Amino acid sequence: MIAGRRIAVSGTVQGVGFRPYVYRLARAHGVGGRVRNDDAGVVIEAFAAERALDDFVAELTAGAPGRMRTLVSTPIAAEEARGFAIEASRRGVAPALSIPPDLATCPECLAETRDPRARRHGYAFTNCTRCGPRFTIALDLPYDRPRTTMAGFPMCPACRREYEDPADRRFHAQPIACPACGPRLDEPVEAAARRIVDGQIVAVKGLGGFHLACDATSEAAVARLRARKRRDQKPFAVLVADVDAARALAELSDADAALLGSDERPITLVRGRPGALAAGVAPDTPLVGLLLPYTPLHHALAAAVGRPIVLTSGNLADEPIACDDAEARVRLARIADAFLGHDRPIASRCDDSVARVIAGAPVVLRRARGHVPAPVALGTRVAVPVLACGAQLKNSFCLARDDSAWLGPHVGDLDNEAAYAFFCEAVERMERLVRVRPERVAHDLHPDYLSTRYAMARPERAIAVQHHHAHVASAMAEHGLDGEVLGLAWDGAGLGPDGASWGGELLLASYRGFRRLGTFRPVALAGGDRAIRQPWRVAVALLDDAFDGDPPPAALARIAAAPADVRVVRQMIARGLQVQRAHGVGRLFDGCGALVLGRAVAAYEGQVAAAWNHAVDPAERGRYPFTIDDGVVDTRPMVRALACDLDRPGVAAARFHNTLIAAGAELVRAAQRAHGALPIVATGGCFANPILAEGLVAELGDVRLQRAVPPGDGGLALGQALVAAAIGGP
Ligand SMILES: [Zn+2]
Ligand SMILES: [Zn+2]
Ligand SMILES: [Zn+2]
Repeated sequence: MIAGRRIAVSGTVQGVGFRPYVYRLARAHGVGGRVRNDDAGVVIEAFAAERALDDFVAELTAGAPGRMRTLVSTPIAAEEARGFAIEASRRGVAPALSIPPDLATCPECLAETRDPRARRHGYAFTNCTRCGPRFTIALDLPYDRPRTTMAGFPMCPACRREYEDPADRRFHAQPIACPACGPRLDEPVEAAARRIVDGQIVAVKGLGGFHLACDATSEAAVARLRARKRRDQKPFAVLVADVDAARALAELSDADAALLGSDERPITLVRGRPGALAAGVAPDTPLVGLLLPYTPLHHALAAAVGRPIVLTSGNLADEPIACDDAEARVRLARIADAFLGHDRPIASRCDDSVARVIAGAPVVLRRARGHVPAPVALGTRVAVPVLACGAQLKNSFCLARDDSAWLGPHVGDLDNEAAYAFFCEAVERMERLVRVRPERVAHDLHPDYLSTRYAMARPERAIAVQHHHAHVASAMAEHGLDGEVLGLAWDGAGLGPDGASWGGELLLASYRGFRRLGTFRPVALAGGDRAIRQPWRVAVALLDDAFDGDPPPAALARIAAAPADVRVVRQMIARGLQVQRAHGVGRLFDGCGALVLGRAVAAYEGQVAAAWNHAVDPAERGRYPFTIDDGVVDTRPMVRALACDLDRPGVAAARFHNTLIAAGAELVRAAQRAHGALPIVATGGCFANPILAEGLVAELGDVRLQRAVPPGDGGLALGQALVAAAIGGP
C-alpha cells in the first residue's frame, strides 16, 4: 500500500548537500518522489509504504547535513512515482535566504586528498556539498557559483559531470574544484612547512583571512612573532593535526574533544599540559586554545610540519585580520618571512571562532567562522527589520527580520580606523547577503562608542538600548524566551541610565523594558578607563572603601605601584576627582586579583581577572561575608576578610568566587520571592568564567547560560536588536 507525505524542512539546509543526501536516502529506502528548495528551506514529496516512509523520515531527522530547524511531515495523496528526482528551484521563488557558514573538510574529502589514485590527491581546495567554503566566498544571493569568488574558475568537464549528477556528493557544490580547473597555491605546502620547521614565520591564506604560522614548540620563533606582531601577552591559538595530537598538549574531556572536532572547528580553550608548548604561546594562563585543521590546506600543513603550529590572525596588534592578497603582502611584510597564498579571493573576512566547555556543554565565546551567517532562531518575531550595532569592544553587529537574527562576524575592538572600516564594510555586506533592509538601528547608550556614532549617522531611526538590558535580551532571544525574566548581567562595564558604569546587575526584564532589582556597591574608578589597564587603582579603591579610608598598612603595601602614585589615587578618590562609580563585577575581579596577586597592570582587558580566576584552589569551599541592603550587595566585609588572606591566593580566589556566587543566588532568590518563579538567565562577560557560571547553576538549578551566542559583548547586538524592535511602537 503506497502512502504519500509532504515533508517541509526549514533551517540552514540549502548549499549544504541536503538535496543529494535526501536523494541518496530515498533511493536506499525505495522511496519515490521529489525534493526541491523553496523560500523556506527544502520540500520533499515522498511516496512509499508507511514503514519505508517512517524509516526515511527517522533517518532524515537523525543524519541530515546542515542545521535543520523544523521538520513538518503531512500526509498527501499517494502517487505512483517513478524513481526519485531533485527538481530545479521554482522560478519566481524568492532567492535562497541563507548562505551557509564555512564547513570543515568532511572525512570523505579528506580521504580523497590522501588517496594517491584520486584525481584530487593532495589538492588543497577539495570540497563537496557537505564541506568547504561558503560565507567567505559568497558575493551575493542567490548562492550559486557565478555569485561567488569561484566565478573565475570555469569547471573542467570532470567537475561539471560531478556537479550535474544528483547522485554525486558534489551535486551543485558551488565551490567544486580540482587541480585541473580550480584555485592553486603559490607555493607547495611542503616548502611552507619546511620554513615553519626552520623557525620562520609564514603567512598562510585561510578561509576568512591570512594567519601567521610558526613552530609552537620553538621559544625563539614564538618570541619573534610576538615582537613583530606587537602582541605582548595575549595567548596564541595552536593548530594540531588531530585529536590525539591535541591530547598530547592538553587534558581533554569528552566534551572538549567533541567541541574541538565539531563541524565549526572553533579554537577550543582547554587546560594545557605544562611544558608541552613554548612558554611564549600562552603566557600567564594555564589555558591553551587548540584547533584542528578545517581545510585540506591546513590538514596538509599540520601533517607536513608534524608538530603543533601557532596559528594567529594575520594582523598587527588589534587590527582586523588581513584578507586581500595584495593588502596582506603589504601589511604583513614586516611580520612574515614568507607567504603561502592562493588565487581564490576571499569575499568576507572571518576570524576563527572561539569556544569553551562550561557546565558540560559548549559556550561560543567568539562567533565567527563556522557560525556566520547561520541565523539565530528567535522564539518570537521582530516587528520591524533592525540593525543593531553592538558594543565598542569585541564588536559584532546583528541584523534581524521576522523570526531570525543574523549576527555578523566578530569585528573586534572598534578602537582603530581599520577595525571601523571593516565594521562598515561588513554591515553593508551582511545587509546584502541576508536581504535585510533595516528600518531601525539599535545602539548602546554610550555616546562615544564608534558603533553608536555609526548608528546615529545612519538615516534610519536610531534607538538607544541600555547595555545590560541588551545582554539579558540576548540571552532571552537565544533561549526563545518572551515575557519577563530575571537576568543576571555581570561584566566589566556598560553605561547605566544614571551615568554610572553598570555591570553587576540583576534585572527584571522583558524586551520592552527592565527594572533594576539588584546590583553591587560601586567602586570608585580613579582616572576612569585608565583603571581598567591599571587594576591596582581598583585595589586601592576597594581597600579605602572597605576600611573607611584607613586600610591596614600591610594590605596597602601589597599594591604593586609606587607609593606616590597610590597616594595620588587615594586623594582623587577622597575628593571625587576624575572618579567614576562602577558596579561591574569585572572590576571586583580586577581589584581583588590585583591586590592578592600583587599585579599592577593588565596587558589587555581582563588579564588580571583571568589570572585571579586561574588562581582558584578548587578544594576550597568557604566564602567571605557580604550583606545585601535594598538589593545592593555590599562587598566591603568580603574585602576586609580578603585582606587577611593575602598570603593564601588560592584560598582567597576560591572564597572570592564563592562569595559572588552566593550573592548572585541570594539576589535571585529574593527576586523570585517578590516576582514569582520567572525564568533565570545569566549573561555578560563574567559568565565566560566557568567557576562563576557552574557555581551559579549549582546554586540555582535552572539558570540559562548563553551558549550559541557569546555571553560577552560579542553577543550584545542580538539583544539590542530585539529590544529596539520591541520598544518605540510598531
Ligand atoms: Zn567534503
Ligand atoms: Zn575540475
Ligand atoms: Zn557587556
